[in-house]
Amino acid sequence: MRPEILFPYFASLETLPGIGRKTAVLCEKLCGPAVIDLLCHMPNGVIDRRLKTKIADAPDGAVVTLEVKAVEHFPPHTRKSPYKVMCEDDSGEVSVVFFHAFGDYPAKALPVGEPRLISGKAERFGAQNGRLQMLHPDYIVPVTESEKIPAIECVYPLTAGISGKTLNKAVRTALEKAPALPEWQDAEMMRRENRESFSASMKTLHMPENESDLAKSGTARARLAYDELLANQLALCLVRRNMRRLPGRSVKAAGNLRNAVLKSLPFSLTSAQRRVISEIDEDMAAPSRMLRLVQGDVGSGKTIVALFAMLTAVEAGHQAALMAPTDILANQHFEKISALAAAAGVSCVLLTGRNKGKKRDEILENIRSGQAQIVIGTHALFQDDVFFKDLALTVVDEQHKFGVHQRLALSAKSGAGDMLVMTATPIPRTLALTYYGDMEVSRIDELPPGRKPIATRVLPASRLDEVADALARALAEGNKAYWVCPLVEESEKIDLAAAEERYEYLKARFGNRVVLAHGKMKAAEKDEAMNRFASGGADILVATTVIEVGVDVPAATVMIIEHAERFGLAQLHQLRGRIGRGTKESSCLLLYADPLSETAKARLKVMRETQDGFLIAEEDLTLRGAGEVLGTRQSGLEEFKIADLSVHGDLLKTARNDAKYIVNVDPELQTQRGRALRLLLYLFRKDEAVQTLRSG
Ligand code: ADP
Ligand code: MG
Repeated sequence: MRPEILFPYFASLETLPGIGRKTAVLCEKLCGPAVIDLLCHMPNGVIDRRLKTKIADAPDGAVVTLEVKAVEHFPPHTRKSPYKVMCEDDSGEVSVVFFHAFGDYPAKALPVGEPRLISGKAERFGAQNGRLQMLHPDYIVPVTESEKIPAIECVYPLTAGISGKTLNKAVRTALEKAPALPEWQDAEMMRRENRESFSASMKTLHMPENESDLAKSGTARARLAYDELLANQLALCLVRRNMRRLPGRSVKAAGNLRNAVLKSLPFSLTSAQRRVISEIDEDMAAPSRMLRLVQGDVGSGKTIVALFAMLTAVEAGHQAALMAPTDILANQHFEKISALAAAAGVSCVLLTGRNKGKKRDEILENIRSGQAQIVIGTHALFQDDVFFKDLALTVVDEQHKFGVHQRLALSAKSGAGDMLVMTATPIPRTLALTYYGDMEVSRIDELPPGRKPIATRVLPASRLDEVADALARALAEGNKAYWVCPLVEESEKIDLAAAEERYEYLKARFGNRVVLAHGKMKAAEKDEAMNRFASGGADILVATTVIEVGVDVPAATVMIIEHAERFGLAQLHQLRGRIGRGTKESSCLLLYADPLSETAKARLKVMRETQDGFLIAEEDLTLRGAGEVLGTRQSGLEEFKIADLSVHGDLLKTARNDAKYIVNVDPELQTQRGRALRLLLYLFRKDEAVQTLRSG
């Protein structure tokens, strides 16, 4: 239950003056439903109204505050013309202009002959130091009420229907209503970093005295970013500790099964594979539960690493399971793994949603009796009627879309077992912490030797004919090519049209050596197209991104991607990973549509310069920010409101250590700081983490 002191922070926005039902609905879309959400809606600039000048001295285009008297009113002649009020001071004249003035507002706001302060953007029209004009002043107040004009006002990201003024006012009252909270940050660090309290920092950010108060690297923003990051890391640590509290067991083996498999391999393991395997061994041997993520680029050899972990479980007399996200991938894993495991005499079974009736019963019986030592499948593995004799290890493949909660649920089903998660999505180190902070992370950061680098070129789409010429030459040398068409997320229809149009264009030139595959085709048609490309007469596969997962055609050495600027770099990297699998040189052409923004240019340059998935992901993070890199909106992963990891990456590391320390010395958050930290968790909506504590 949320503590009472936080109630004002979670009051609905409608409770703020100036925010009615309609505005509240708009605000909720903009930042969230409660006062705390409004406070976490960060300003991205300021309007400085401190410049008070005479009319004659007002610079063109600046925001100024003037003291003026109205001389004469000029109501509009027609509905479309503006309402003008001529005003003056002892230095000159300014015309104040209103479009669509509401009723007699101008007459009331600027009565003739009475002094008023007006504040807004002033512009000059006409030749040299021409006539001054102010369109819709932001403020018009009597001179006795000058305090109603804020010296410095924040600029917020807005949405249609909400003005900056409304938001400023709402935030100010929110600041007044939100009570000061006990400090949850370490006093020593606060002193060292010169940080102020949570409320004081909120105030500095929303009521700045200088533009520099808003800087992301400034003390106020850093303090709040740190709060947000600490809440995230502490929550993950608590969840992890909770999981570890569940009984685990020590699983170890001499390595006989592994040795048998190693002997059958035509290669030796890379040092990265050996390192990761020993990290896993250590976890499995420990009496607590393993929860470890293995990150490794496509082709880095994750399968063998997973198999070795499973063999340890089997040799120790238990079972192991591997869960893949789709039937196709489960099948692929089964074929690879059962072939390797056979060398050690280990029995594997496959269980997917496709198994029905008697066949399924048979498989289930094998799993129940323990005869099946390694079980591979989809989520069908964890249905209610699947019973393992003795499951010691679960490997989950490619599940970066899995949230903490699903991982918790899965591990509950796997009894006291260890869990290994494998992903090919290169996630920058900093982000890995925020999403997988509840897991240990191992990286296979080395590819097996002998892979040929892929030559990557970046070209404007206007050179399409040249590209087709180059393609013709490549085909003449016996190569095959992928041609990936634009990705317009909002509209599948446009995607298809683009792919079909390109297919026609290429067919006109290359005839029936071209095939088309896209997500809207019937499975059989698609399979046929893929098969013709993989082993038949077709040499060009035109596709939308359906080829992203699970296609393996070693003879394909050319990858052409249109509108490369629209893809995430991680996705481009995965697509490019489809080539360079055989012994021939491969090349990738990234086509873009002009004009290209600076960021887009820089991103494509990264693709040209490196093939290291992790480096690409790090660069993408710096160039675009976290939300976009992972597509967090679609994946449901958490987004930060205050912290910006391209600026606050170091804070995240500190928060990580701090969280570990806290959970070590004060696991139930009982000390004075611990109690304050509970508030922090609630404030950032980590209620589930608080619920793992013994006493609320
Ligand atoms: P991924 O990490 O994408 O799952 P795989 O495990 O499928 O990669 O391995 C890709 C290919 O590399 C497989 O054909 C595998 O046999 C091979 N491979 C794995 N490890 C090595 C190694 N140490 N040396 C050479 N080839 C290897
Ligand atoms: Mg794999």
